[in-house]
Amino acid sequence: MKVEGQATMVGVIGTGHVGLVTCVSLAEIGHRVIGYDQDPEKISQLRSGSAPFHEPGLRELLARGLASQRLSFTDDVADCVRGAKVVFICVGTPPRAGGEANLVAVERAVRDIARHADGPCVIVEKSTVPTGTAARVKATMQRENPERAAELVVVSNPEFLREGQAIQDAMRPERILIGAESAAGFETMRRLYGPLIANGSQVFEFDVSTAELAKYACNAFLALKISFINALARICEQAQADVVAIAEVMGSDPRIGRAFLDAGIGYGGSCFPKDLQAFDRVARRLGYEFPLLREVARINDEAVEAIARKINDALWNFEGKRIALLGLAFKPGTDDIRFSPALVLASKLVSEGAHVVGYDPIAEHNAKAEMPQLEVASSALDALAGASCAVVCTDWDEIKQLDLSEVRKVMAEAVVVDGRNIFDPDVMQAAGITYYPTGRPPRRVSP
Ligand code: NAD
Repeated sequence: MKVEGQATMVGVIGTGHVGLVTCVSLAEIGHRVIGYDQDPEKISQLRSGSAPFHEPGLRELLARGLASQRLSFTDDVADCVRGAKVVFICVGTPPRAGGEANLVAVERAVRDIARHADGPCVIVEKSTVPTGTAARVKATMQRENPERAAELVVVSNPEFLREGQAIQDAMRPERILIGAESAAGFETMRRLYGPLIANGSQVFEFDVSTAELAKYACNAFLALKISFINALARICEQAQADVVAIAEVMGSDPRIGRAFLDAGIGYGGSCFPKDLQAFDRVARRLGYEFPLLREVARINDEAVEAIARKINDALWNFEGKRIALLGLAFKPGTDDIRFSPALVLASKLVSEGAHVVGYDPIAEHNAKAEMPQLEVASSALDALAGASCAVVCTDWDEIKQLDLSEVRKVMAEAVVVDGRNIFDPDVMQAAGITYYPTGRPPRRVSP
């Protein structure tokens, strides 16, 4: 799966979760790629072949790219931009205090490109940005480099990768979304992604505003599905009904689909929480009030509260009690803890006096850096030893496969609150564990 004919010279600004995956996947299909990041430590790490975050398959592609010399990294943005025919902007767009996307890094990247571009070039917005950003990008380039601005084409190409399976998503994307204003923009992107398109990826070609908005629409709708099932879970808990069974019924309708109907502790990560807020602010700026988005976020906050209420129900008081959090990453397959519901729960429990001990197969260091007061154990059983309650926060296979008789043996009180519904209630009860699933009736075992 390689480009036929001439490879494209590609620059990538920002080598984080999206940028680095973009670098290694484009090099893998035969392009010549130079990644730049403002963080020089990250660049020297990447040059030595070490990935700054965990993503299955990333290390291997990084090594292959470096060995083939199609992939390199620089701490000088000029090296990244000069000679490039396509430059991807992959910098962070974190939320501002008011919820809107902070585009300072995007603007800096655009200025850098305008300053150093030395020929016709396609500038690709891969970062998730509000509708209207492409127009700002064009205006900035015009201001920074009026002679060259006409040669710089802006394209929106939002990223749909899922952390934990990002390499697979980049090498075999279900869809490639391209927003452009000119035939040259579409053509360059089609050529760039040629091998992926030939391999069956669906391509959508729209105007830039539609592409920018489509990314927010996708993330908001996925978050909406999660919050819908979590609201239903609260109702099921009152009605002694089973949300998992209802999700199966709903999911069997192809108009609804089963994905993202897993009730639990709620969504987290670097995208859904911030993109939902940013979308709400974009809608408002465009004159449309979209309270549904705020409601989705409120229900998500409530999901953590619901878990805390179950712990309270089981333990009566938190103070001084050891509570084990199983899984700290916002989802399995990644060490990303940004907006992880596990850490939201951890700070709530710590602030109420509980002795919280977390365990995660790979996110331990990131969690400790984010929340130094959190005690982190080196195995699930170590975290569980002496605990009065365990909370499943991330559905790692390792946690699904725990030996329940060992769990019961090491805990001070065998109580499991399951924020991911990974266990079978009958099996938990048979193992002598009091079990609080999400949206299903609890199983209490007499001490
Ligand atoms: P990240 O924090 O992992 O990486 C951002 C990188 O950009 C960092 O390495 C940072 O040092 C670098 N950077 C910031 N400003 C810079 C500048 N001016 N010049 C050079 N480098 C700079 O972020 P991410 O998760 O890769 O997200 C990047 C964008 O992609 C965001 O808009 C995000 O919403 C979007 N996105 C993320 C995902 C995901 O799963 N992480 C998926 C789709 C889209």
